Amino acid sequence: MALQFSYPDVSWHPDFDNHEIVLQAQDPDIGFKSFIAVHDTTFGPARGGCRYWSHYQDDNEALKDVLRLSQGMTYKNTMANLPYGGGKAVIMGPKGTQNPSPEIMRALGHALNELDGIYQTGEDVGTRTSDFKIAGEVTEHVRTRSVERAGAIDLPGGPPLYTAHGVYAGIKAATLHKHGSEDLKDVRIAVKGLGNVAWTLCELLVQDGADLTVTDIDQDKLNRAKEVWNVNTSTPDNIIFEDVDIYSPCALGGDINDQTIDKIKAGIIAGAANNQLTDVKKHGQALHDAGIAHAPDYVINAGGVINVVLVGKSHEYVMTRTQNIGNTLINIFNRSKIENKNTTEIANMMVKERLEEAMDEEGTAQKCA
Ligand code: NAD
Repeated sequence: MALQFSYPDVSWHPDFDNHEIVLQAQDPDIGFKSFIAVHDTTFGPARGGCRYWSHYQDDNEALKDVLRLSQGMTYKNTMANLPYGGGKAVIMGPKGTQNPSPEIMRALGHALNELDGIYQTGEDVGTRTSDFKIAGEVTEHVRTRSVERAGAIDLPGGPPLYTAHGVYAGIKAATLHKHGSEDLKDVRIAVKGLGNVAWTLCELLVQDGADLTVTDIDQDKLNRAKEVWNVNTSTPDNIIFEDVDIYSPCALGGDINDQTIDKIKAGIIAGAANNQLTDVKKHGQALHDAGIAHAPDYVINAGGVINVVLVGKSHEYVMTRTQNIGNTLINIFNRSKIENKNTTEIANMMVKERLEEAMDEEGTAQKCA
């Protein structure tokens, strides 16, 4: 059986948010099934990674992922003022597989051609740069993190460096908002995770004289942090409850939930981890009600996507754009206070306002689709 394309009506799905196009592509002979969701192209072609996952129970679960994640990319790209919309692809891998076969990647490449450039994709969970080299044999619409593809300038540090600088700018913005000064000297900051992003972040915070408490499940990293910076340490379970001014989640998401939220002592939460709030509405509002300034994750951690999208630009330019995350967060915190709405709600409203403003006088956006 040959590769087949269809455009299922998914408007019934609870996670449908007026997505512009959802493409279903499949070729059972090679074990290929994929959904590609283009959420919004108001500001340019949709961008977002391609996830390969062999644990989806059924189509609904894959659709849920692709609809939510593509919407999230619109929000992230719009808030970072990037000339791109939001999209995502998920490949439902055959059970037991971790990464796509070359045939699957070529089939994905043909699916990208079917969308004629309104969606561009690259690495995500389960897909590697090498996979996109294979897809690139049949399509022009792959955008990997590898600098060689564009012959571009090799920026030092890659996405995590810029993500760290964005989080640093966000921490300073939150401190300015809350305490009237962005001076971090002796400010008590708890950082969860000492990975690629957090390590650079901690270096910046140590330079500023912050009083750091750190943790990681990797004891070697923790020992090294103690040795290099002489910082306090905590445990992965307790770090969120430390008596600090700022909590910076930089490991995995889901930290802020029904079990933890009432025991958080920090007045600011600003970190790189994705999906920090288990229930965005409920926990976003609970943080707001408790007077905790929370930097929405998709705003504060956009440095990496800025770096990837602005490939070919100079380090200084990308860094300036990344540092601007601080100004965006100042606006969000101010509006949150004035309008008495939680920061995630405000950030989402700002995205919707920008998309509406981009509509032309007839009320139709200059979309790619
Ligand atoms: P990483 O894999 O380099 O680091 C994660 C670190 O967290 C590791 O050292 C790991 O040992 C530690 N860890 C995992 N579970 C933990 C736990 N329960 N308690 C304490 N430590 C734990 O990842 P990264 O690139 O530094 O990214 C960190 C977070 O930021 C992730 O949630 C990622 O999705 C998000 N993020 C990263 C980027 C980027 O540019 N790398 C961009 C946007 C968002």
